[in-house]
This record gives sequence, structure tokens and C-alpha cells, in this order.
Amino acid sequence: MNTATIAELQNKHLIPTYAPELALVKGAGTNVWDADGNEYLDFLAGIAVLNVGHCHPNVVRAVQEQAAKLMHVSNLYYNELQPQLAEKLSAAAGGGKCFFCNSGAEANEGLIKLARLWGSDQGRFEVITMRNSFHGRTLATLTATGQEKVQKGFAPLPAGFAYAEFNNLESCKNAITEKTAAILVETVQGEGGIIPADPAFLIGLRALCDDEDILLLCDEVQTGIGRTGNWFGFQASGIAPDAFSLAKGLGNGFPIGAMVAAPKVADIFQPGHHATTFGGTPLACAAAIAVLDTIEQENLLENTKAMGALLLENLQTIADQYDWIEGARGTGLMVGLVLNDSAVPLQKLLQKKGLLSLATAVRVLRMLPPLTVTAEEVEQAAALVAEACAELDAQ
Ligand SMILES: *Cc1c(COP(=O)(O)O)cnc(C)c1O
Repeated sequence: MNTATIAELQNKHLIPTYAPELALVKGAGTNVWDADGNEYLDFLAGIAVLNVGHCHPNVVRAVQEQAAKLMHVSNLYYNELQPQLAEKLSAAAGGGKCFFCNSGAEANEGLIKLARLWGSDQGRFEVITMRNSFHGRTLATLTATGQEKVQKGFAPLPAGFAYAEFNNLESCKNAITEKTAAILVETVQGEGGIIPADPAFLIGLRALCDDEDILLLCDEVQTGIGRTGNWFGFQASGIAPDAFSLAKGLGNGFPIGAMVAAPKVADIFQPGHHATTFGGTPLACAAAIAVLDTIEQENLLENTKAMGALLLENLQTIADQYDWIEGARGTGLMVGLVLNDSAVPLQKLLQKKGLLSLATAVRVLRMLPPLTVTAEEVEQAAALVAEACAELDAQ
């Protein structure tokens, strides 16, 4: 099938929640191909999902072998892979226990439920989240998401959420009441436009939560699994949250999410409190274990730091040449080029030139290449951005 045929079939049979243009049919590393045979450099990576690249042989092998052995058993039974994956995540996080689920929103739902159950004895239930945040599309997580655009039309929204300004400790302090159970924060606002949390803000939040005896929760759905050059984004500021969520990069495309809870709250959930049918299937865990092992074996945290710095430097050089580009910002391989106006024309032109990226928060071109990206690929992408910017500037 070519792109036109696929699009026609989709328009006829799918609820139109998405508006795709390309039909991608094959991937390898940082490259993808569409149904018409065009090749692209993938600096979107399934929105920070393909952290070890498309079809990494380790992940492919793990999934193929596990699929032929045992795919699913239900959490009514042990499966040998789930605790092995949890052990690896705990080691990376410096302690804690895991609950496995299927998506980012579901992992965040877990955090919210954990905070409520933890606070229920004292009548604490409210979760403070940040304006311009993104936490998912279920009713609770779109309410946690501090952006009206995702909430509009879905009232009544669940109660129990309050909002504060990101990177503003005073605002968070002011939002706390006797009902507050937790503060939930992204360590880099991804969907919000690649805005890193100041280390001082996270350190201040940790102290504030300790003082007020409330939980600090981090949404690491996009920032986790090496994306920022650390296993988890909070590690850059040396703090540890009471619990955090993971999803996107964890299975490299095989759906799996997780909630990781520090010892203080790791045993709050008891049998009957929380569950999900597909959470932590042998198949999902096999994929995730292969991802974590690959990140370690290939030194991808180091590569992420180095390639992230190279990409940021290249984009800053481009930004310096045009007064309609504000600058470049980011952490690790979460990088944004901030324009004065909509980033859509640049994103579309880049796509035409063979580079996939994302226009976010209206005027930010967001780049999230696989953590396996090479210097050559970064330079290649930067050259395409430079070329596209020059063309747009001439118009
Ligand atoms: C993508 C994302 C989510 C939602 O994850 P889903 O798997 O789409 O439910 C939540 N939080 C952050 C920070 C994200 O980037």
C-alpha cells in the first residue's frame, strides 16, 4: 500500500483523533522509510520512545524469543521477568519498588492514587501540578495537565488538583493547603516546549515537601530512561522524589509504563488497591530489560550527553543568525529550537527535506533523536535545519 491508499483507509475507519501526513513502514536505528520509499532521519523517535533506535537487534531478539516462549500470564501469577526488570530500575533509581502498567497516563494515575491513599488518613488528597505541564489524556491526568487546551469540553473534571507556576518555588509554596497530598512535576517540560526545571527549583521542592510532609512526585514519562543523559531527569539535581512515573522510552516501542516508589511509600499499595491486566507481561518486561541492558552496554547515557551538547551547539549557531529564532535550549537529547512564531512551517519543510521533528507549544521545534544517534547524524540534521532556516528566511 502507498501513502495515499493508507490515508484513505484510515480516514474511512479511524476516529480522527490524529492528523498524520506520513505513513512509516520500516525503521532501523535513526532512519525510517515511508510507504512511498522515502527515507527520513528520525529526530522524533516516536516522541521519545525509541531511545535505542528503531528495531534495535537486542530488543527485536528479546521480543521474538519471549513471544515464542510466554507472552502473558496475568498478575495472579509470578512471572520471572517482572522482578528482574524492577530490580534493574531500582538499581538505576538508587532504591524503591515498581508497579508496571501500560502507558504514561496510567503510570501517572498510579502516582495520583498512591498520593491519595497515602494522604487519606489525614484527609490529604490534593495534587499540585505545574502550569504548562503535560501528564496524559485520561480524565485525572488531563486535569493534572496544567493546560486548558486539553481540558476544554471535558467538564466536569475530577476534583483534587491545584496548579502552581513551574520553576517558581514561591508559587508552589502558596498552593499548599491542609488538603495537599503531593506535588507532581516534570523534570523537563517536554510537551510544554522543552523547559528544563532549574536544579534549585527541584532541590527547593524536595525541601518544601519534606517540611510540609507531603510527597514529591516526578513525571519521568518523557525524561526517563536516559533521555536527559541520566537514567532519570531528577538525578541531574541530586534529589530523589518519593515516587516517579516512566513509560515512553522504557520498552522502545513495546508498550510498558511503570511507577517507581521510594521505600517511604513503596508498601502503601497492598493487594486490592491497584491493578492492571497487562501490566508487566513477560513480553513487555523482556523488551524493557533489553532496553536497559543496551543503554548500559552501549554507554548511551554518555552518548546522550555528548550528542545533546553537539546538537544544542549546532542549533544555537543557527539561532544566532536569525532574529526570528530566539535560541536553543534543552537537556541531553531533549532539545528545542525556540522561534518567535509558529514552528509548523519549519517542521514541515524539514520533513520534506527528510528530517522528522515536532512542533511543540506553538513555537518550539522539538528534537528527540534516539540516544544511539551518531555525531554524523547530528551534523546531518543540523545541516538540514540550517538549509531550511535559510530558505524560510529568504521567503
Ligand atoms: C507522553 C507523556 C505522558 C503521557 O503518556 P501516554 O503514554 O501517552 O499516556 C505523560 N507525561 C509526560 C511528561 C509525557 O511526555
